[in-house]
Amino acid sequence: MKIICIGRNYAEHAKELGNQIPDEPVIFMKPETALLASGQAFHYPSFTRQLHYECELVVKISKNGKNIPVENAGQHYQEVTLGIDFTARDVQDKLKQKGLPWEKAKAFDQSAVVGEFVPWESISNPADIHFTFLKNGEIVQEGFSSLMLHTIDGIIAHVSQFFSLEAGDLIFTGTPAGVGPCAPTDHLEAVLEGRKVLSVMVA
Ligand code: ZN
Repeated sequence: MKIICIGRNYAEHAKELGNQIPDEPVIFMKPETALLASGQAFHYPSFTRQLHYECELVVKISKNGKNIPVENAGQHYQEVTLGIDFTARDVQDKLKQKGLPWEKAKAFDQSAVVGEFVPWESISNPADIHFTFLKNGEIVQEGFSSLMLHTIDGIIAHVSQFFSLEAGDLIFTGTPAGVGPCAPTDHLEAVLEGRKVLSVMVA
């Protein structure tokens, strides 16, 4: 399986990092070794002093496909959850300045935390999914999927032009504004339409 991530998919987040709003999705990937299940401890990496959380809606691909038309994209997923795209922001800033790929800052071990999946049919408002992210019990990020620049179906159509999608692949759909630092002993939680689907301790 592979983990495909979308960058700069919310205008307010692109602005907070001083990035331009792109015309087409910014895509990067993480390897399977980046996966961390909810409930496990996340170990703060030694190579960064500025670890940021980015809470994102995560879609699990349920059916293989290539060049998927946007109108058929809904047939390729049945479950959704929240995840954390952990980012070594100091490392990423250096790579960005040099125009280099982001993998060292984004694709390290445990950098893709994935919550418990919920069936797509159980989502009460699929056109505007609401989610919140808490650090030590305080809400630090709030997302509404209607603010995504590229919809889930649009992302699947776009991404599948370049990469075949396979059942089990995960798509991180980008973070809303409010990204920020975390440190050892922090407790991170994510709530999808009122259901707590993710809980991680930073060690
Ligand atoms: Zn992200």
